[in-house]
Amino acid sequence: MASDCVYLDHAATTPVDERVLEAMQPWFRGLGAANPASTQHAPGHAAARAVGEAREQLAELLSVTPGEIVFTSGATESCNLGIAGFARSIGRGHVVTVAHEHPAGLDPVRRLAGEGFETTILPAPSTGVVTAADIEPVLRPDTLLVSVMWANNELGTINDMEGIAMLCRDRGVALHCDATQAVGKIPINLERVPITLLSCSAHKMYGPKGVGALYVLAGTRLRPFIEGGGHERGLRSGTLNVPGIVGLGEACRICSDEMNVESARLAELRDRLESSVINRLEQVHVHGDRTLRLPSITNISLGGLLGPDPLVNRLRGLACAAGAACSSSREGPSHVLEAIGVPPERARNALRLSLGRSTTATDIDTAIDCIVAAACS
Ligand SMILES: *Cc1c(COP(=O)(O)O)cnc(C)c1O
Repeated sequence: MASDCVYLDHAATTPVDERVLEAMQPWFRGLGAANPASTQHAPGHAAARAVGEAREQLAELLSVTPGEIVFTSGATESCNLGIAGFARSIGRGHVVTVAHEHPAGLDPVRRLAGEGFETTILPAPSTGVVTAADIEPVLRPDTLLVSVMWANNELGTINDMEGIAMLCRDRGVALHCDATQAVGKIPINLERVPITLLSCSAHKMYGPKGVGALYVLAGTRLRPFIEGGGHERGLRSGTLNVPGIVGLGEACRICSDEMNVESARLAELRDRLESSVINRLEQVHVHGDRTLRLPSITNISLGGLLGPDPLVNRLRGLACAAGAACSSSREGPSHVLEAIGVPPERARNALRLSLGRSTTATDIDTAIDCIVAAACS
């Protein structure tokens, strides 16, 4: 493992919280490893109860009913099931999304376009913040689904989900929301914000990789694409990942308890990082709205740097992202920065710095020095 490196890439993934790891341990071994579908014996019952508790913990964080939660392998699967599974259950019609969504939300919409659905991929606003006013003009009588993320993974910007949800409800259009970056970080109350389908992932909130969930509003029909034993009300077959699901539940509990204090701490550190870089270097740009955003992310670029190598490659001792780590297999500039109109030469020197639970004030000081050193090298 790399040592002596400040980790500011929490938007790509977070380390598992020690308390989460501890909660998961018993469910790997001995009788704890029983299959929660084997309810004819006591260990199976215990595993099923543990899954039920995790379902309640996530439901509480979102203010929904536990029966509306479907566990999956992560947000990519949840987005695919929420978007394509919903559209395919209807069969035809119009689907709307926005250009700076995560590929997990964009690619299923593109897939639907090849299946005879009509799709609109709206251009992104230059602030990165999507409102109902952006969505309203493209809704049609045959629009069946709108898909908009809660918070953007590269910019940290927060969309007006309440306004968008009210619009969709008034028009009788279903709404999918990729809330992967928002769940556990900012308050989400689906009693107030009427969303049909919502995707999230454990590893973005100090839980393990390979487990996530899709919230499915009661009464919503989906066509599953993983079929088999009929787990998760037939929407997602396959033996449940009990330790992972327990970890997701515990991660939710911790976030519920600590969100307010942690948000204030991270916002202060993030703002100090941002303002120090702005003060010490020339032509620093901050991408996306600086108010309507998560406390933990800043996306900046440094101007006046003409080296052929992207800035991120010149950083030593700082782990952060150039664009989205999630699209590492795709070459070229970030589609998010491109979508909000950042010129390519500036996008090339963009850094996404994302803070998290383990980030200290010392980390921030070190990161500032690393960035200044790289910019001047
Ligand atoms: C990380 C991320 C995903 C993908 O989540 P996985 O659990 O890794 O599949 C989807 N959407 C957003 C916004 C993300 O940040």
